[in-house]
Amino acid sequence: MNSADVLSLCKRRGFIWPAYEIYGGIAGLYDYGPMGAAMKNNIVHVWRKAYTLGEGFVEIDADTIGPEIVFKASGHLDKFSDALVSCVKCKTPYRADHLLKEHHPNPASLSHGDMDDLIQKVGVVCMECGGEISKVEDFNLMFKTMIGPGAIGRTGYLRPETAQGMFYNFNSLHRHMREKLPFGVIQIGRGYRNEISPRQGVIRLREFNMMEAELFIDPKDKTWPRFDAIKQDQIRLVPNEPGDTELSVTLEEALKKGIIANEVLAYFVGFTQRFLVTVGVDPERLRFRQHLKTEMAHYAADCWDAEALLSFGWTEIVGIADRGCWDLSRHIEFSNVEMNGFRRYDEPVEVEKEVLKPKYGMLGPQFKAKSSAVGKALEAADPKLIEDGGITVQVDGAPMIIEAKYFDVARVKEKVSGEKFVPHVIEPSHGLDRIMYTCLEHAYTEKEDKEGKYLVMRLAPLSAPIKLGIFPLMGKDELAKPAMELDAEFRANEVATSYDDSGSIGRRYARMDEVGTPYCVTVDYQTLEDDTVTIRDRDSTAQVRVKRSILLKTVVDLLNGKRSFADLKG
Ligand code: AMP
Repeated sequence: MNSADVLSLCKRRGFIWPAYEIYGGIAGLYDYGPMGAAMKNNIVHVWRKAYTLGEGFVEIDADTIGPEIVFKASGHLDKFSDALVSCVKCKTPYRADHLLKEHHPNPASLSHGDMDDLIQKVGVVCMECGGEISKVEDFNLMFKTMIGPGAIGRTGYLRPETAQGMFYNFNSLHRHMREKLPFGVIQIGRGYRNEISPRQGVIRLREFNMMEAELFIDPKDKTWPRFDAIKQDQIRLVPNEPGDTELSVTLEEALKKGIIANEVLAYFVGFTQRFLVTVGVDPERLRFRQHLKTEMAHYAADCWDAEALLSFGWTEIVGIADRGCWDLSRHIEFSNVEMNGFRRYDEPVEVEKEVLKPKYGMLGPQFKAKSSAVGKALEAADPKLIEDGGITVQVDGAPMIIEAKYFDVARVKEKVSGEKFVPHVIEPSHGLDRIMYTCLEHAYTEKEDKEGKYLVMRLAPLSAPIKLGIFPLMGKDELAKPAMELDAEFRANEVATSYDDSGSIGRRYARMDEVGTPYCVTVDYQTLEDDTVTIRDRDSTAQVRVKRSILLKTVVDLLNGKRSFADLKG
């Protein structure tokens, strides 16, 4: 099996379609068909529930288009670029590091000059026409646009990730959370990256779906209340030293040995593993790799990628990073708006500090009607800002320089109940399309029986777009009526069904197997006699008869993993 087989099934059965196909398609743009859209919604539902109901996070839905300053602050304008080269003859573009994959262990870590030298040295040429390759240049991956028309228009960008909305809204979120840390926020939505040459199906898209969580924490308390509940989970790790050796340890061991930097990060590595396995990533083809020191963003204290083994090799599907205070500090710097957490002391403490004492007697004659406002501004001013014998303060919204003769600097004692700090951020960032594709590739199973080869998608029940096939053995009225009633009952209970009365039962099972439907129910002549139906299990193809009265509960328990099909048989 390779990715072309999986994508071919996905196309045929309505999971994933190349976008704009009637116009020839565009690389890096795909649409989800009916099965794909349903499956995507199912995965989103599991993720949203885990974070909101499970961890108490709140969800926001911010704009996908933003003004330039946001992306200056976030660093995307200056740093979010890939190394672009192109064929001098036919102009085909390439990512320089991709061209050098076979010639260097980590080509992305090379400087542009070193990449140029290596391209020359190993003689890389255009894969299309054999032409010479150009020098490396920076290509920013953001899509640029204008917000507003003509002269009043401002430069804007489509967001390359959802995260910034959660950072620039920090103060509103903090107030909403009654100013207590830690708290978590999630956002689900589109991100846009003008990838240089997207070639691996839905792995590298130009418009893609993200599910991101930002946890705002006190840097002095990087613990998580529910860590104990998952600390025994076994996890496959590839630390960045020594020697990149893969190991399997519990989360508790990983933390104790200092492999993962802190408990919050360890918790969300474990939490992510549980989520991925629940939606259908094969645990045998899942590992967490620590970013190499050269790969780690300069602000990141530690970063782990969930990687899935796909036909393309190990592929990042989720990134979990300790981003320190970088994001909020940058937005504070660029917006001039403070964004702080507050650490309350057990007991208020007395501190000595310098303050300005206005000489009110002198202010009146000099500043007349403004003297009271000047006095207040001086009282609030920070003595550290005194320069050249005076200080600049804001009075009625305008700056005013006040000479030193109008105030004294005094030392006073003050009780303070706590201190401000810029919160740190831990970010689990999920590429939804890559997770979807991983679930599809890991589910893809070729089987063979006496009639030949056939395909079964062993999707996790929670992700499967259709949960239950419902078939009358014959399309005749006496069987169709109870089968339709069953179908209506399941739909009323939010179980997505597919009613099918055409072709042989074998063909109907095969149709459901190909779209990953975990169970099928058949209504036959015995149903009319004893009110039982058969449930057929996709993976074992085994069948059991179940009383109609307990059918709904049985199926719902099977789908939620509360019962297994094997138990049912016994
Ligand atoms: P990043 O912000 O680069 O760490 O990306 C976060 C997640 O988004 C990654 O773990 C990937 O799963 C996913 N991702 C990044 N770039 C793309 C892309 N071009 N197409 C699809 N998914 C992507």
